[in-house]
Amino acid sequence: MVPHDLNVDLHMHSSASDGVLSPAALVARGRDHGVDLMAITDHDTLDGLSEAEDAARDLGVSFTNGVEISVTWGGTTLHLVGLGFDREHPDLAGALAQMQTSRFKRAQDMDAALVRAGLPSVLESALSHAGNPNLIGRTHFARALVEAGVCHGMQEVFDRFLTPGKPGYVAHDWASLPDAMRWIQDAGGTPVLAHPARYRLSDTAHWALMQEYMALGGSAIEVSTGSHTQEDTRRYQRLSVELGLEASRGSDFHCPKESRCDVGRAPPLPDGTLPVWAGWAV
Ligand code: AMP
Ligand code: MN
Ligand code: MN
Ligand code: MN
Repeated sequence: MVPHDLNVDLHMHSSASDGVLSPAALVARGRDHGVDLMAITDHDTLDGLSEAEDAARDLGVSFTNGVEISVTWGGTTLHLVGLGFDREHPDLAGALAQMQTSRFKRAQDMDAALVRAGLPSVLESALSHAGNPNLIGRTHFARALVEAGVCHGMQEVFDRFLTPGKPGYVAHDWASLPDAMRWIQDAGGTPVLAHPARYRLSDTAHWALMQEYMALGGSAIEVSTGSHTQEDTRRYQRLSVELGLEASRGSDFHCPKESRCDVGRAPPLPDGTLPVWAGWAV
């Protein structure tokens, strides 16, 4: 089959980070939705990958390792997906373990900031949603605040409390872009700049990011993702062709009740783009 005709989903989250389905349940959902090739890309952890790979083997779905690394670039948080790496590589696993030590402290700071803003403390509840305290994040707080009746939905929590400038947002130093790129590349993987339309950057900063990304060996960006509008997808189709960057496709699925886009249901890659998986054995 030509690469464009495969149903490929290279971005989704399991309960190992801020998704709600187990890695095996995600793979089963991919199989049910006719996915030919999938990657699970949990935030800053490889914990779900071995379960997913076993399930993929049992269910006959092609699977590749994935991760979504949090990066701080010029004061903005970016997400860098890594695909097809060796998950046993000690540097990648070690670097992610280092990053995880700071998430719990950040959660305590977020809780304190929310309490200062007059909200009840939801740290315990957020921790119970997270499972692993080292992987707690804003999504777990959002679920806890909806459950506590503070907000009606996840989007409202982010808009009112958890985005930059809002009372529960705690700035954080994630990995640097060169480090995150190197961890993925040294483990034999392919970096992919996740949902590029989501970053609030000036045109100049956006251009500088693309130049730096390519100088560091970045050769792929997400074009079709559940985190892009149709207009975003068209814009990054043009950019990928203009800059000669390969294109990736992923749902960014987290939860059946929350996510706009289900596993395997991101829009197809637009014509003219070169799929990042074109050279892979699927
Ligand atoms: P964290 O890594 O803890 O900062 O959490 C980032 C995660 O929060 C993202 O991967 C999304 O799952 C979620 N998120 C961020 N912004 C929003 C938003 N505006 N609406 C819904 N979810 C969001
Ligand atoms: Mn997430
Ligand atoms: Mn992301
Ligand atoms: Mn994601």
